Amino acid sequence: MQQTEEPKTGIQEVVREVNWDDFRDHLATADQEGRRMWIYPRQPAGRFYRWRTWLSWSLLLIMFAGPFIRIHGNPLLLVNIVDRKFVVLGQVFWPQDGVILAIGLLIFLIGIAVFTAAYGRLWCGWVCPQTVLMEMVFRKIEYLIEGDSHQQRALAKAPWTGSKIARKAGKHVIFLGLSFLVGNTLLAYIIGSDALIRIVTDDPRRHLEGLTFMILFTLVFYAIFARFREQACTFICPYGRLQSTLLDENSIVVAYDYRRGEKRGALHRSQSMEARHATGHGDCIDCRQCVTVCPTGIDIRNGTQMECVHCTACIDACDDVMEKIRRPRGLIRYASLDGIERGEKQLKITPRLVAYTCILVSLIGLEVFLIFSRSQMQITLLRTPGALFQQMPNGKISNLYLLKLINKTPRQIPVQLKLENIEGTVTVLGKDLVVPPQQRMQTSVLIELSPARLRHGSTELVLGVYADGTRLQTLKTAFVGPRKDG
Ligand code: SF4
Ligand code: SF4
Repeated sequence: MQQTEEPKTGIQEVVREVNWDDFRDHLATADQEGRRMWIYPRQPAGRFYRWRTWLSWSLLLIMFAGPFIRIHGNPLLLVNIVDRKFVVLGQVFWPQDGVILAIGLLIFLIGIAVFTAAYGRLWCGWVCPQTVLMEMVFRKIEYLIEGDSHQQRALAKAPWTGSKIARKAGKHVIFLGLSFLVGNTLLAYIIGSDALIRIVTDDPRRHLEGLTFMILFTLVFYAIFARFREQACTFICPYGRLQSTLLDENSIVVAYDYRRGEKRGALHRSQSMEARHATGHGDCIDCRQCVTVCPTGIDIRNGTQMECVHCTACIDACDDVMEKIRRPRGLIRYASLDGIERGEKQLKITPRLVAYTCILVSLIGLEVFLIFSRSQMQITLLRTPGALFQQMPNGKISNLYLLKLINKTPRQIPVQLKLENIEGTVTVLGKDLVVPPQQRMQTSVLIELSPARLRHGSTELVLGVYADGTRLQTLKTAFVGPRKDG
């Protein structure tokens, strides 16, 4: 990069000229020919890394325990595509809840757009399972076995001695084991923990399909965490691709304060900060500590970039440098680009941020309302296809119906049926009408009416469905009978 030599008097003067022969015409992790350049990030340390570590442990605990945590007998989360059964926070959703799921998905997508516009890629750096597992589990194990970045680099260049083979093999065996654990956890979120335990404990020949997915997921996760790494965020993740369209100059991002940092240059041992500033230099001493810790290999001083997952490692690294040279922390910090241009030193709560947060909270509130206000029971009543009316021995006319019930609650519900608009008999054929918890059932219902109560051809029926004396739903249907002459 070339730098202008003008004194630092304003925004125009501190903007550096870009060497377009080199800048952003290739990925930070690929060379000019497109070959992968392996990243050996230095292990971060600092307050953000500490906070992220604590949060990550909590998230990992929830993630691995999730399929085994039961709320009303249901898991925390289940996405059973095969049986078309979905559970969120212990609430079961059926395909019949499609409207809620569709609105929920819409709210989720709008929420992502609003959240990213307001808070940038906070999700990626702090909560995304890819970042949490990569940086807080796999990378830490790598540091433990192979050492920090310079030792890893040296090991990579070293000849294949017994010690190198043992360390590399040990690392990959652990990675494979962890990938197996992660893969199984994902499988448990799809088929449920009970089904997973059955696959693990039962005769393998009876679960070939499940075992295939188990191996597939393990290999995919091993490939992601052992090989793909930051490329999963850069090439595969659609959210990463979308961010360039969702972010604007008011979004909060991990940003380098170029007004304060430029013109960058080495700090001479004898030079005071005042003397340095008098020469037009800013606070950035060009130590590149922010670059060496970056897991995606970028230089945040070049501005917001597609690869930046907002992991905050560069903030910690630069804060450490600032403390050592006795300058205020925050040369790299959470800020909006507009805020940095305006020279704001701290993150400001702007009306836009408040408005976006209100929209987000409202959307979450709407989704929670939709989930908890949905009917506990879904009931449909249809005339049995192909069945005509019948004249009973007692002279009454009967129609046969098909009653379908879905119990969305965690308790069984005994149901009673009652004609609301006409006198007649309702008989449930077969077993008692008790719907087991979170199950669906269907049964045949015979309704008998006196011919005197029938209208010409078809009579409208109103059927009340009751549980414990409370009317759950009112169903309307038609009752057909013989045509009356005249
Ligand atoms: S760590 Fe801070 S001082 Fe060092 S190069 Fe990065 S921005 Fe400049
Ligand atoms: S630039 Fe900073 S925040 Fe972004 S990925 Fe690199 S280290 Fe993390």
